[in-house]
Amino acid sequence: MHDNNLHLPFWEGFSIWNFDCRADGVWISLIPSSEKPLRCSGCAAVCQQIHGRYWRTVRDMTMLGEPVWLQVQLRRLRCARCGSCSEHVSWLARHARVTRRLAQFVALWCERLPVSHVCKLTGLHWETVRRIERERLEGQLAALPEAQPTRLAMDEFALFKGHRYATVILDADTRQVLWVGEGRSREAIRPFFAWLGPQRCRQIEAVAMDMNTAFDLEVRQHCPQARVVYDLFHVVAKYGREVIDRVRVDEANRLRHDRPQRQVVKRSRWLLLRNKENVPADKLPKLEELLAANQALMTTYVMKDSLKELWRPTEPWQWRRAWNNWLNMARDSAIEPLCRFGKRLQPYWRGILARMRWPMHTGQLEGINNRIKVMKRMAYGYRDSAFFFLKIKAAFPGNP
Ligand SMILES: [Zn+2]
Repeated sequence: MHDNNLHLPFWEGFSIWNFDCRADGVWISLIPSSEKPLRCSGCAAVCQQIHGRYWRTVRDMTMLGEPVWLQVQLRRLRCARCGSCSEHVSWLARHARVTRRLAQFVALWCERLPVSHVCKLTGLHWETVRRIERERLEGQLAALPEAQPTRLAMDEFALFKGHRYATVILDADTRQVLWVGEGRSREAIRPFFAWLGPQRCRQIEAVAMDMNTAFDLEVRQHCPQARVVYDLFHVVAKYGREVIDRVRVDEANRLRHDRPQRQVVKRSRWLLLRNKENVPADKLPKLEELLAANQALMTTYVMKDSLKELWRPTEPWQWRRAWNNWLNMARDSAIEPLCRFGKRLQPYWRGILARMRWPMHTGQLEGINNRIKVMKRMAYGYRDSAFFFLKIKAAFPGNP
């Protein structure tokens, strides 16, 4: 068969048969040129037998600002291995609704822009962009070697709007996000252990988590040999919320007749919750002045630093002494939120002590938490959490 049709380098193996400008864009009809051997799209074997032709409409890159629709004539082949199968086309994936070129373009921009912007850029429907992005992320994840975690870290984060939460579980050694799921109950994380399977469950030595969750019960059920470890990051964050914040508000209320002082205390949240080494030098005098003027704030502030010290001893007896000291100081402080915190912390001593044998970098969870927050802000196009979870997993493939 000889063909006089126009060949352009964009659609290998095809030539333009018709070209039409319509209201919704440029329509290009493509028919196969005859010089190339036919290959099966399933197994790439060369096939001789054509047993039908059909048309598929796909999108390509916009041309001079106009959407481009391709009507492609494809041949159905009789493959010895796959049976009836469509022909292999280098620039078009099997069953795809867009060309490979356009899919790559979309994937490239999805890494940098919210989905809604990519829709505008390409003129594609929201669902189409998301499907392309999802396939790319799933492909990336499928290419990762199977995780063999021995230490896990579990954490929760708030989902968009409302009071819904999600749980993220990572390999504490490689920092790979292994699993993300909605909810923060025992039942919510059960699918993770089903995914992990009994053999990998037996390899787990330690699991770091927040103190006030029910995760520990679920961990004991599936990994009875694993130690539950309470993480410094979470305990200190809890201390900030339940003690420092509370005392700050109480102090501000006590100073209601001294307006300027009251404002200073009210606005000091950031200064008080920050690690001292992260407070800029020019703000330090302000912090010191604030603490000097408010005894209760001073006490809770100092107690925060000595709380952190509880993660430092290397000998159990040193630890026990520091622990008892801290609890006694909390009890004797006569500062109500601090006394309460000490009492609540007491039953968790095993998980805090265990951390000495199973040290984990607390910065990990903090870092991942912050990245998730940024992704959430970027994500004003993620309509369902499954897609968001996929993005989180792909963002933390781990570094073994
Ligand atoms: Zn085949």
